[in-house]
Amino acid sequence: MPPDLQIVNARLPDRDGLWTVALSQGKIAAIAPADSLANPAAIAPQESAATLDANACLLIPGLVDGHIHLDKALLLDRHPAQLGTFAEAMAETLRLKQGFTVADIQARARQVLERAIGFGITAMRSHVEVDPTAGLRSLEALLPLCEEYRWGLTLQLAVFAQEGITQQPDTLPLLHQAMALGGDVIGSAPYVDADPKANVQHIFDIAQEYDCDVDFHLDFLDDDEPLLLPFVIAETQRRGWQGRVCLGHMTKLAGLSPAELVDLAAALRDAQISILALPASDLYMMARQDTHNQRRGVAPIHRLAEQGVNVGVATNNILNLFTPFGDGDLLKICTLLAQVLQLGTAAAHQRCLAMATTQAACAIGIVDHGLEVGHRADLVLLKVGSVSEAVGAAPAQRTVIKAGRVVAQTRLDQQMFAPEQSVG
Ligand SMILES: [Zn+2]
Repeated sequence: MPPDLQIVNARLPDRDGLWTVALSQGKIAAIAPADSLANPAAIAPQESAATLDANACLLIPGLVDGHIHLDKALLLDRHPAQLGTFAEAMAETLRLKQGFTVADIQARARQVLERAIGFGITAMRSHVEVDPTAGLRSLEALLPLCEEYRWGLTLQLAVFAQEGITQQPDTLPLLHQAMALGGDVIGSAPYVDADPKANVQHIFDIAQEYDCDVDFHLDFLDDDEPLLLPFVIAETQRRGWQGRVCLGHMTKLAGLSPAELVDLAAALRDAQISILALPASDLYMMARQDTHNQRRGVAPIHRLAEQGVNVGVATNNILNLFTPFGDGDLLKICTLLAQVLQLGTAAAHQRCLAMATTQAACAIGIVDHGLEVGHRADLVLLKVGSVSEAVGAAPAQRTVIKAGRVVAQTRLDQQMFAPEQSVG
């Protein structure tokens, strides 16, 4: 079958030279060197196929934002930070949440989703707040958007108990209702619960009932409370949920000694638990009590990756009290990650890109993502010549391909007005 689209003269992240990538029926059908005759059917120009000339630019797998909050994005105009603390963010976001309507949530989410598609994010997991204050409004708002934006990105919805479970008994039946309505994943923030372990167990109970993956906001903040991670690892093993648990933040891992981290990494690897660092939020919120030499508080995911743990990087919040920054471009978050974890080599940049693409996909249960034949044809062409340039500069000019079809293209329209040279 002839390809639907052929991308010619593309650089690829992990291979030298220029390549032709043929896409057919939403999948990658062939990858061949531009000058190869080994597989003429795959690389010869096909009259029926559209051709996209990459002009030696870099073709990467689609960006995967595995942790974002669409329902509380873009709230900063409504309530600019007065104190800029975590306590203020929790209290004021809860207050704002009381006024959320389906139309309001959809309007903000659409802005984020459309920007995301333009940036080349081809899959996303959004947490969706479900509690007595939010009710099911966030889910009712976001469920239709999964279908509405399917042409541009795959949207997973993680039902999320942000305000605790055990101290608010009305939350639990709402979580069940949300899963019955079509939530894809179940999760919570055990650190806000009066009984964090019971909170974790409630979430695993729901996961088993609905046969869904689990996503916790875990071991966030930098207080002296012990890690909850060993308990979550044990529950993952006990319930047979290996490969189905993703943990966001994990900032407390930044405070462990190398030996402690290696031990935990082995347990994470055995339980096939993925960790997502959220550097934009965590750099902003962590180490507030330090008076000088302030710590960074970002999960050392590069160290975990060295031990074979699947790790990724994600956006978390955009322009709200938890993170009063950002535009939803995951590639810029990748730049930030490389800066904060001091990842400067070409090999480290390759690993950073994987954390925002293939490994992030794996963290949210998408296994057929990446530049391999048979994988989904979700790709981004970046106007750069190397992975280091992509991670270092997050170029604006991008062409985005979802399921084999070009869905967005960004061009930079820039004019220079240099003064006229005086002659003679
Ligand atoms: Zn989050």
